[in-house]
Amino acid sequence: MASLRIRCSRRILQPKMLRLLVEGPPCAAVVPVRHLNLHEYQSKRLMEKFSINTQKFQLAETASEAATAARSLGVDEVVLKAQIMAGGRGKGVFSSGLKGGVKVTKDLDSIGALTEQMIGYKLETKQTTGDGVLVHKVMVAESLDIARETYFAIVMDRSYQGPVMVGSPAGGVDIEEVSKSTPEKIFKIPVDIWEGITREQARQMAENLEFKGTALEEAAQQITHLYNMFIGVDATQVEINPLGETPQGKVVCFDAKINFDDSAKFRQADIFKQEDTSESDPREVEAAKDDLNYIGMTGNIGCLVNGAGLAMATMDIIKLHNGEPANFLDVGGGVSEDQVLRAFKLLTKDPQVKCILVNIFGGIVNCETIANGIIKACQDLDLTLPLIVRLEGTNVEQAKQLLYNSGLAITPADDFEDVAQKAVASLTGQ
Ligand code: GDP
Ligand code: MG
Repeated sequence: MASLRIRCSRRILQPKMLRLLVEGPPCAAVVPVRHLNLHEYQSKRLMEKFSINTQKFQLAETASEAATAARSLGVDEVVLKAQIMAGGRGKGVFSSGLKGGVKVTKDLDSIGALTEQMIGYKLETKQTTGDGVLVHKVMVAESLDIARETYFAIVMDRSYQGPVMVGSPAGGVDIEEVSKSTPEKIFKIPVDIWEGITREQARQMAENLEFKGTALEEAAQQITHLYNMFIGVDATQVEINPLGETPQGKVVCFDAKINFDDSAKFRQADIFKQEDTSESDPREVEAAKDDLNYIGMTGNIGCLVNGAGLAMATMDIIKLHNGEPANFLDVGGGVSEDQVLRAFKLLTKDPQVKCILVNIFGGIVNCETIANGIIKACQDLDLTLPLIVRLEGTNVEQAKQLLYNSGLAITPADDFEDVAQKAVASLTGQ
């Protein structure tokens, strides 16, 4: 089997994968889209395995641990970095009032006090939502002088149908501004996933990043290592900003962000088990466990819809009628009775949800299955929330009959518009 290659996948396929490719996944309709995100410290541990240059560091969860770590690194200058998954920490502000989630200092005695103003407080950056993200850990690392900051990333890009390297000699905290005001300073080099990165491509990118002399060679080598990691860990994105140059010409990854392909979970088990969900919406964490395609929102109308397009259109029509969806929930085309029950469990557990709107188009899905799932959910969960159901398509008449015969307090709706109007009205008791 080892010699078997399929061009449309990025690896030599194992028999199990090959079967999936030929036959399709067992339930093709329910494909939750999640993007595993790691903390900087986790990413840097991975990078060390691929010979990528990073600074030595220790992790701390308390001020005294941080103070001890700063001493035990045995360096003159340290950099203290709040570990949250959003970027822009350098320019962020803590709810404690402290400015800057990245602190470089030679005063090792100050590390404890600084950490005290970080851990247990929220850090708000231009990439966080709401009032920021609670900090649980800090990284205490050896600080290195930076002579120049460049930007380097590798992304899996649909338009190139493969990985693309993106680089800029003007890296650092203002890279978004660079791409807006001086897009000519952003360079892209696509890589053929079957050939892998060539020496010429790595050198070309290193030249684009304006590395010179021995630093040019080292940068090209680091770029190659980063590409090898990108492929080796099944990443969809590796972003290094800054990829810096020290005054001695050493090329170092000062920051790191890696995203992973969720389809590769089965072969990257060690990485996926590092997932920290403390920064995620708890409703989304629950939904992911149940293989539901769910995104939490701020409104009060819980939605259960099949198909992402219909789910989005449903949210639009709710808004059109001055309602607010509590969530996006696409149960997919291959939905089972049990999944309907799990979806209802999720919706009823959310204290925000004040009514439930079901909007199903039975193309692949049989409306009878949905109706049975709804009846079971109402009974098992003792549902008291207003429930408005619009079903259309395969076996719709039989499904409507099932709901009617159940004697449950379900408000039927005829169409799209009707279901939204009735859901909004149920909230105001009209
Ligand atoms: P971000 O703001 O979340 O992207 O965090 P970074 O890790 O990129 O740090 C922000 C900025 O702090 C970097 O762009 C650097 O300018 C600076 N920085 C980070 N690490 C060091 C270091 O070891 N030494 C020095 N001198 N500056 C650093
Ligand atoms: Mg950065």
